[in-house]
Amino acid sequence: MLTDNLNRKIDYLRISVTDRCNLRCRYCVPAEGIAKLPPKEILSYEEILRVARVVTARGISKIRITGGEPLVRRDLVYLIKELHQLPGLKDLGLTTNGVLLKEFAPSLARAGLRRINVSLDSLLPDRYHWITGRDLYQQVQEGLLEAEKVGLSPIKLNVVALQGFNNDEILEFALLTKTKGYQVRFIEHMSFGDGYEPQFSTFSMFEAFGEINSYQKIHPVQRDGVAELYRFEDGIGVIGFISPISRCFCPSCRRIRLTADGKLRNCLFSDEEVDLKCILRGVGSDAEIEELLLKSISKKPPGHMLPATNINYHRRMPLIGG
Ligand code: SF4
Repeated sequence: MLTDNLNRKIDYLRISVTDRCNLRCRYCVPAEGIAKLPPKEILSYEEILRVARVVTARGISKIRITGGEPLVRRDLVYLIKELHQLPGLKDLGLTTNGVLLKEFAPSLARAGLRRINVSLDSLLPDRYHWITGRDLYQQVQEGLLEAEKVGLSPIKLNVVALQGFNNDEILEFALLTKTKGYQVRFIEHMSFGDGYEPQFSTFSMFEAFGEINSYQKIHPVQRDGVAELYRFEDGIGVIGFISPISRCFCPSCRRIRLTADGKLRNCLFSDEEVDLKCILRGVGSDAEIEELLLKSISKKPPGHMLPATNINYHRRMPLIGG
């Protein structure tokens, strides 16, 4: 078992497979986008699989594939298929913006993917267009239907709750769970101090909960990771609240990250990284990868400093994978 210096059990690796994305969400990247990593800097699937083999043999049992947008990377289904066969891996997930989901859901399911997270911040096509910079709302809806059709479950909708942007849709999203078996999760926005999202402020989960519960009482159900889950009496899906700021869950954090360019990052909000690429592309051994894994975990900070936003991180969110 892997534990850090605060005795937190670390069993969850988030792997960013690309910094590329087919959307330009205003709270994530500026409209003109950000400088991309040179392709040769991005880990190959074989390099990612080598790291995954080493870390799953050492206690990591859950892997989530992220980006940028992972489905824009060619042959991602091959990686899912290979990861799915790793003996130590109990849980394999993928977070996507859903734009390419209709095309890939069938092959992802055949490759062994069982569940999926889809980021969707509005149920209004025009507002979706405004926030993402792309008029692709319909594609995402078709992707969700395809994911249902091929049996991916649970389908989790990740909704970043933003004051003054979509906080008036909280109830609409929650009511989806009366007709869909989705897990609709509201997430407090975590500012990266990037300076191009000053107009967005966090809509707290207390307010979101209050709004739904005053409409109709919701009942607690078993927690799922960092999400506190509730259900309408007559709901078929569940409603989740993820509160990294108002109910910080860093004391029970289980995750580390592998960036697209091969850095192990022990916390979303820490620039403490160890470089695996020099080993992966050199003559290093798996034992050295394991050593760096332990080194990274041993330096894992207690948590984020939010809501302090005057911290300049050297890596932006698309280069970490959320
Ligand atoms: S901020 Fe860091 S410690 Fe806190 S939950 Fe995220 S990754 Fe874990």
